[in-house]
Amino acid sequence: MKMTVPENVKNIIEVLEAHGFEAYAVGGCVRDTLLLRVPGDWDITTSAKPEEVKALFSHTIDTGIEHGTVTVMMNHVGYEVTTYRIDGEYEDARHPKEVTFTANLVEDLKRRDFTINAMAYNERSGLVDEFDGLEDLEKGIIRCVGDPMERFSEDALRMLRAVRFAAQLGFSIEENTKAAIRTLAPTIAKVSVERIAVELVKILTSNHPEELRTAYELGLTKIFMPEFDVAMETQQVNIHHMYTVGEHTLVALQNVQPEKDIRLVMLLHDLGKPLVKTTDEEGQDHFRGHTQAGADMAKSILRRLKFDNATIDLVSKMVKHHDDRPEKPNSVRRMFSAIGFENVPMLLEMKRADLLGQSTYQRDSKMALVDYYEDQYNECLKNQTCLTKKDLVLNGSDLIAMGMKQGKDIGVVIDLLFEAVLDDPELNQKEKLTELAHKFMTPFI
Ligand code: ATP
Ligand code: MG
Repeated sequence: MKMTVPENVKNIIEVLEAHGFEAYAVGGCVRDTLLLRVPGDWDITTSAKPEEVKALFSHTIDTGIEHGTVTVMMNHVGYEVTTYRIDGEYEDARHPKEVTFTANLVEDLKRRDFTINAMAYNERSGLVDEFDGLEDLEKGIIRCVGDPMERFSEDALRMLRAVRFAAQLGFSIEENTKAAIRTLAPTIAKVSVERIAVELVKILTSNHPEELRTAYELGLTKIFMPEFDVAMETQQVNIHHMYTVGEHTLVALQNVQPEKDIRLVMLLHDLGKPLVKTTDEEGQDHFRGHTQAGADMAKSILRRLKFDNATIDLVSKMVKHHDDRPEKPNSVRRMFSAIGFENVPMLLEMKRADLLGQSTYQRDSKMALVDYYEDQYNECLKNQTCLTKKDLVLNGSDLIAMGMKQGKDIGVVIDLLFEAVLDDPELNQKEKLTELAHKFMTPFI
């Protein structure tokens, strides 16, 4: 079998081979190339020790020298070159206590998580596939290399990686591998939240975010995001819905672009519902206040998973406003202003996806309302409508020049002016706004 390998990778392999070492492209890049997908990066595995690799190339970086990894720079692109290794005992289902270098490629392939990730390739030997990775690739199966119970006991994160690869590739997880995850799911608690968050985002931004259901069925989300399990188990008996909160979430997720922020928004938008659910005498479910509850929950989940503050603020704000349904132009502008004008396209996408996850009851008119928001958005763009305080034609210094004293009263008057302009954008002109400012200032001077 012949595979296309980038020139730089060929070069690195040739240099190593010319000095008597073995070297192969390995792991994800081999898998992706066989699937006709473009690999994110090319990793190389070699019999050369890190010091030997460093001696052969002019530009190298000690990326993870204690684990055998050196980055070789080739035409300004970095390639991770890692010495064949056997991972020692894992201390805590997280870190190998020690790694041992080996001269044997197959030993190195054995430590890898899944058969589809345990193939190596070079021109001399062709594809090295000791664990039938190619067959699993063709069948669309995620299967552990060796005994799944052992492999997941060594590193619990592999359980979530199994779901992640299923989501990215549209594969299914082999039965024994699944059974082991079911048994060992609670041990995912030993993995750092940062590593979990990386895999969660990869699942969410994949072509099959609905694979989160598999993480739920196998007992994984219960450990790191039990709020999602509750949603999966919350019925919504009313005319607007046809799915549980969780299944609605999965449909909504599939209807937005595969971008981190909006996928997080869809994941979290309704998780507040179980908290506020009430059922009336007719047996109809209501979820009053779910947006604020959801925004609070989004914050606490994202904080727990150590997302950055910008993401936390944006996502919780979108969750808070996901169900706003203003009908008049001035209230629409207030909504735009509340979420930030630059986030309106995300708001539109979120609202449409949310509707696609509901029953078809009144769908046309619900969609028409979102179309109306889009028209309003385009109007605002065209007219450069003032939607933030800093777009007011008057600022604090202007008010001081008009006779106000420095201090918090200035903020009060600016707020009043901004409210007036949101109501009537025409007011945001020097003359008109100055007149209005004089009126608002009177009580303060
Ligand atoms: P991608 O880069 O698209 O996320 P990948 O398969 O390259 O996918 P990486 O996390 O970059 O995944 O890891 C590279 C290779 O290292 C994998 O293909 C696999 O062979 C091995 N590997 C990575 N993480 C683990 C792990 N936790 N346990 C065992 N092997 C692993
Ligand atoms: Mg990779």
